Amino acid sequence: MKLRDIAIGANASIYLRMDFKKIKGVFYPRTEQEIIDAIATAHDGGYTVTPKGGGSGLSGACTGGNRERVMISTLRMREVLTISKDQGYADVQPGATPDEINALLEPIGMKFWVAPSSRDIASAAGILSTDGGGNDTWVNGTMRDNTIRAKMVLHDGRRLTVDWNGVTSDDSELEAELTKKGMTINDIASAHGTLGFITELRVKIKPFPSEKLVGGLANFEDCNAMGRALSELIKRKSPIRYGETVVAAHEDIRDGLELPLLILQFPESFASELKGILDYSELDS
Ligand SMILES: Cc1cc2nc3c(=O)[nH]c(=O)nc-3n(C[C@H](O)[C@H](O)[C@H](O)COP(=O)(O)OP(=O)(O)OC[C@H]3O[C@@H](n4cnc5c(N)ncnc54)[C@H](O)[C@@H]3O)c2cc1C
Repeated sequence: MKLRDIAIGANASIYLRMDFKKIKGVFYPRTEQEIIDAIATAHDGGYTVTPKGGGSGLSGACTGGNRERVMISTLRMREVLTISKDQGYADVQPGATPDEINALLEPIGMKFWVAPSSRDIASAAGILSTDGGGNDTWVNGTMRDNTIRAKMVLHDGRRLTVDWNGVTSDDSELEAELTKKGMTINDIASAHGTLGFITELRVKIKPFPSEKLVGGLANFEDCNAMGRALSELIKRKSPIRYGETVVAAHEDIRDGLELPLLILQFPESFASELKGILDYSELDS
């Protein structure tokens, strides 16, 4: 087993005391068929299967626990397959990260608006499996709100496509059964890979807003004062496009920072109303 394979059995959680010898195989498929083959190999050996994306999950789910297990990584399935600017979607492989997707979209004025802080390593399938979101979630929603459909492979190799209307599959019995049960994207969001292996996603993409945005930095006496300002912003349904609070910082980077602080981005037209809620200094764009 290589060091890389051991790293595949870890993640960003506190679950570091895993028995990596119980990892009986690590697969890095490039195609849907290779995923099906990897799952079949695991079943033949009597091992559980754990899908693994970027490993940035904080719950330990993608470690596969301490059972004899097979890991299937999407490290080699990170391509953006199709972009339709007109219809507002991109088809991506499960391992593509938001940063990788947006590197292709930004030159054409479009963006995939799901941006967890881990967007340089978290994969599209991992984000859907945890229903992740970012600092602009209150405007753009979480991953489920930005997923149009997902293709999956089940434990027995059967394939299905799940969207907001139900399920389609070349197995008509499976299609009828799951559609009758009302399965939609909602069921995959946060399922942590327990329902099947996601092999492809169609995600929403949207243009950058044409409004002029301003950045602001606000310092507060304490967290209560910041909380009151945030409550007021929410009460007024403020058009904040991006928000980030910093309440603590490691001493290596704390130098010069007055905490707690709030970083905001908002339309220029909202600036005077915002001044009435909190005191901020404008940031360079
Ligand atoms: C520094 C840091 C900052 C973070 N910031 C945020 C944030 O701002 N917002 C936020 O929501 N989260 C954040 N997170 C948490 C984390 O990034 C998310 O949980 C992320 O969505 C997981 O994606 P991943 O590709 O790393 O998945 P993994 O950690 O590899 O896996 C997560 C789950 O998804 C399953 N899975 C992975 N791939 C597939 C697949 N192809 N098919 C089926 N199941 C699959 C795994 O089995 C596991 O259960 C942060 C984490 C870190 C370390």
